[in-house]
Amino acid sequence: MKYVIAGAGPAGVIAAETLRKADPKGTIVLIGDEPEAPYSRMAIPYVLSGGIGEDGTRLRKTPGHFKNLSIHVLRDRVAKVLPKKRQVILAGGAKTPFDRLLIATGSRPVKPPVPGLNLTGVHHCWTLADARNIAELAQPGADVVLMGAGFIGCIILESLLARGVNLTVIEMEDRMVPRMMNETAGNMLKSWCQKKGVAVKTKTRVTGVKKSNAGGLTVHLNKGRPVNAALIVVATGVKSNTGFLKGGSVRMQDGGVAVDDHLQSSIDGIYAAGDVACGPDFSGGWAVHAIQPTAAEHGRIAAINMAGGDARYQGSLIMNVLDTAGLISASFGNWPGVNGGDIAETVDKGHFRYTRLAFEDDRLIGALTLGLTEHVGVIRGLIQSRISLGPWKKKLIANPSSVMEAYVALSPAAA
Ligand SMILES: Cc1cc2nc3c(=O)[nH]c(=O)nc-3n(C[C@H](O)[C@H](O)[C@H](O)COP(=O)(O)OP(=O)(O)OC[C@H]3O[C@@H](n4cnc5c(N)ncnc54)[C@H](O)[C@@H]3O)c2cc1C
Repeated sequence: MKYVIAGAGPAGVIAAETLRKADPKGTIVLIGDEPEAPYSRMAIPYVLSGGIGEDGTRLRKTPGHFKNLSIHVLRDRVAKVLPKKRQVILAGGAKTPFDRLLIATGSRPVKPPVPGLNLTGVHHCWTLADARNIAELAQPGADVVLMGAGFIGCIILESLLARGVNLTVIEMEDRMVPRMMNETAGNMLKSWCQKKGVAVKTKTRVTGVKKSNAGGLTVHLNKGRPVNAALIVVATGVKSNTGFLKGGSVRMQDGGVAVDDHLQSSIDGIYAAGDVACGPDFSGGWAVHAIQPTAAEHGRIAAINMAGGDARYQGSLIMNVLDTAGLISASFGNWPGVNGGDIAETVDKGHFRYTRLAFEDDRLIGALTLGLTEHVGVIRGLIQSRISLGPWKKKLIANPSSVMEAYVALSPAAA
């Protein structure tokens, strides 16, 4: 059996290793288009903040790891997939046949259509190459503009702050992390950042970037004065890497490759995993999640099925945890809630503490927390277990902070 994996990020690497365990004799080819040994993007912020060196980002650190597993790592780009011929065409024109194919090509950052974003000094923070460029310009005291205060933007914010830059954040929505936090929590996070010396401009758009007379950049906004910058970091969203499937017969959904609960695409023998896959969600729907735990689990499950096993993907709970200059915020599952479902909230703006719980019938289906670290695992457990809260629902509505007591009382050991 010949397995080809397109993409050597966490999803692709875990799939290759799982395949080797499941099929000791199969041929495994792992194709990645980056000029680096497989690494974790998640670790890039720690490189920037100085916590680790580039070596610390490598997904596997043992020399010869892939060779020892007889996994052939190919530095190339998959340019096209020919499902009927069971072949992938590489960028240089070479053809590689496959019996089973995994698409694990991840996602890429998108640049909004703003004039000047192609100038020197404007970077995404997506690859190790980006990190090197950012590190060169983000020197202590340098003026830096961060475009976008979403989940990834806020992770980058943390590492830029650690580098001692003079930071301005521009976000077009009415709050920080708008897809992860509601207005209350997103604006509490904004106040926190402002207290830490970051200029945060929400409901503001970058309209253009120009070279300044002083040799740096000038960032023009739809309101207020222009801002000077030695570096602009663009973090305004991502898109699944599916261009090489264009015009083919692989079905797409929400911009990703549509997969079933075995992570197989619409074409027999072609699977997808990670940021590129639109897969089962914990709430019963389908979604592109673009977080690393989902990529890792996708890679594992897809590989078991590619090797002839029968593993069902249960659906991932979307969960994001951020540390923004010491303030921990977390969002879980369906935090906006559902029609007719109850919501419980407690807010202490002075101490930057907030909890919001969303219920469906007597189950917890989503939550937001700010300033609370001790509850992260507990809330996740209450949601993932789909446990019936019974009388604890009323108690949680009266005091949303009592999630720990509810968890302890409802855990099987207490029954
Ligand atoms: C700065 C930053 C911080 C992050 N922090 C977190 C975090 O705290 N928590 C979290 O859960 N997630 C985080 N993420 C997201 C996380 O990194 C991704 O969800 C994860 O990398 C997805 O893994 P993947 O294997 O699907 O894709 P990727 O890691 O993107 O790997 C895909 C690989 O395929 C390659 N490729 C693309 N097209 C082709 C092609 N045609 N042929 C061959 N190769 C191709 C790509 O270049 C890439 O090397 C962060 C991301 C960034 C950028």
